[in-house]
Amino acid sequence: MPHLTVHSSAKVNLCLDVLGARPDGYHELRTVFERISLADTITLKSVKTGKITIHCSHPHVPKGPKNLVYKAALMLKQDFSISAGLDINIIKNIPVAAGLAGGSSNAAAVLSGLNRLWRLGLGQKELVNYASCLGSDVAFFVYDVSFALGTGRGEIITPLKSPAKLWHLIVTPKVKMYTREVFARLKLKLTNKKDNVNILLPFLRKGDVCRLAGALSNDLEPAILSLRPDFAYLKEKLLDAGALSVCFSGSGPSIYGLVRSQQHAFDLRARMDKRFAQVFVVSTL
Ligand code: ATP
Repeated sequence: MPHLTVHSSAKVNLCLDVLGARPDGYHELRTVFERISLADTITLKSVKTGKITIHCSHPHVPKGPKNLVYKAALMLKQDFSISAGLDINIIKNIPVAAGLAGGSSNAAAVLSGLNRLWRLGLGQKELVNYASCLGSDVAFFVYDVSFALGTGRGEIITPLKSPAKLWHLIVTPKVKMYTREVFARLKLKLTNKKDNVNILLPFLRKGDVCRLAGALSNDLEPAILSLRPDFAYLKEKLLDAGALSVCFSGSGPSIYGLVRSQQHAFDLRARMDKRFAQVFVVSTL
């Protein structure tokens, strides 16, 4: 039976502005996504049984209909009346529920992968429509770009051009942090709010890493720190170790240092305590 292997990369948010609460329960965002070199590997194999089965050795990844990958496959299977089933094997390298959008990226990789495997002939616009039904971060990964602006819930994507290849050290504390809880802690300041994304964009366009470092920001940081005040220490530790700038990704708990080079990232990694956190050296993909 035909099969296909796809890579599914993570993201960090270089900037995340929360503009306000929406009537549908989501928040209106403006964010700058960066696709990074940390990735899962997914193998899709058509099977005769007609069933969708997920294999993944990671204990926190759902194996049934709650998995975003399952939802993505089921949507396409039903819409295109595909009778074949699917065995999906996920090799997880991206930490789960970590603000790196591993599940969203997996879903996008499966949409694009099945489009090829089942020869569905879907264009980018149609794939983006499917992606938006699955989650706010999925659409970014349907675009084959390194950087993009996300608006709306984060699902309206404008690709961004930049000559920058950034290096980061990502530190992911071994704790669970739920997006819902972080947003629930958010205190929205609607007056005198800086437009952080628009401050950052010209530096990204020019590839000016030093000034970009000064412009990293995440409006969710106070909410994340109110849940875990001890993470302020991690931030300080990365700065003391020589990171140009430090920022949370998404709703945390992953925190990343923007560094000068791959070697700089390796030097910092050697200085981090790895008992309570996973540590990754990554670059723009
Ligand atoms: P978000 O900010 O959208 O919650 P995240 O980057 O913080 O995303 P993910 O790794 O995408 O975190 O996982 C969020 C939740 O999604 C997990 O608690 C997990 O149970 C569920 N999930 C569903 N499908 C997957 C998948 N394929 N890989 C990882 N987690 C998945």
